[in-house]
Amino acid sequence: MKLEFKRKDGINTHAIECRDEGPVPYLYFPLLERTGAVRHGFSTKLGGVSRGEFATLNFTSTRGDDPEAVAENYRRFAAAIGVNEKDMVLSWQTHTTNIRICTEADRGMGITKARPYGDVDGLMTDVPGLVLVTFYADCVPLYFFDPVKKVIALSHSGWKGTVNRMGEVTVRKMQEVYGSDPADILACIGPSICRDCYEIGSDVAMEFEKAFSSDSLPGILKERPDGKYQLDLWEANRVILSEAGILKDHVAVTDICTCCNPDLLFSHRATAGRRGNLGAFLSLC
Ligand SMILES: [Zn+2]
Repeated sequence: MKLEFKRKDGINTHAIECRDEGPVPYLYFPLLERTGAVRHGFSTKLGGVSRGEFATLNFTSTRGDDPEAVAENYRRFAAAIGVNEKDMVLSWQTHTTNIRICTEADRGMGITKARPYGDVDGLMTDVPGLVLVTFYADCVPLYFFDPVKKVIALSHSGWKGTVNRMGEVTVRKMQEVYGSDPADILACIGPSICRDCYEIGSDVAMEFEKAFSSDSLPGILKERPDGKYQLDLWEANRVILSEAGILKDHVAVTDICTCCNPDLLFSHRATAGRRGNLGAFLSLC
C-alpha cells in the first residue's frame, strides 16, 4: 500500500519518510537511519487490530481499548521495525519534563511488567537493545541520538513541555548523565500538530511570550485579527534545540501534521479526543 501524506511547505521537506511496503507501514527519519546505529520508527493508524475510534494501530489501553488488541499491535509494530516488544520500556506521560534514565532493569516496563513509576515524559538510555517508547496524538515527539557516547532519548513535548523547554532539559540530562556534547547530538522533531491547525487562546500565548525571546517569538506565535493565536510547536522546538547547542544540520523537522492527516494518524484535535495513541520508538542497535 502506498501512503500519501499531506505535507507542509517548510524549511526541511521530506526530513521524514514512510516505509510502506510491509503490512505495518511506519515513518522514519533518514537522518537517524543513515547512522546505521539505531532502530526507530513512528507509527501510523494502519496495520493493527484495534477497532472503532482506536482503529487500527493504537498503543495504549488507558483510553478504553482492548488490552489484547493493544498487545498484538505492539507485536506487529516491533516486527515491522526489527525489534522485540519484550525489550520495550514505556513512558507515563503527564506533561512534565521528568526524564527516566533507563537501565537493564527497565526492559519490558509497561509490556511484560507493571511500571513502578509515573510522571515520566522522557526516556533516556545507553543500553543497546532497550526500546524506548512514547505516545502521541498531536503533541511533539523529540528523538535524540548521540553517536559518540552512544546514548538515545525520546521526549514528549506538548505545549506545556515546550514552554518548559523539554528539548533542552533532555539535552542537559544527556550532558550531565552521559557526558554528551550537544554538537554531536542528532535530533528529530516528529509528526505532530502544525501551526495552521493549532489555534490557541491568549492564556497559552502569554506562556510562550514569557518563554521565548523577542527574536524567535514572531516565528512561533502569530496573532490573528480575531484575537486568537496560531502556535508553531515545530519552530518552537527547533529554536529550543538550537539554543541547547544542537547544530542546524543535526536537526530534522517533520513536515507531516497529525491533524492534517486524520485518515493516517491519530489527532486529538481532528477527532475531539476520540482517538488512540501513536507511538514513537527508538533503540540502540
Ligand atoms: Zn495541520
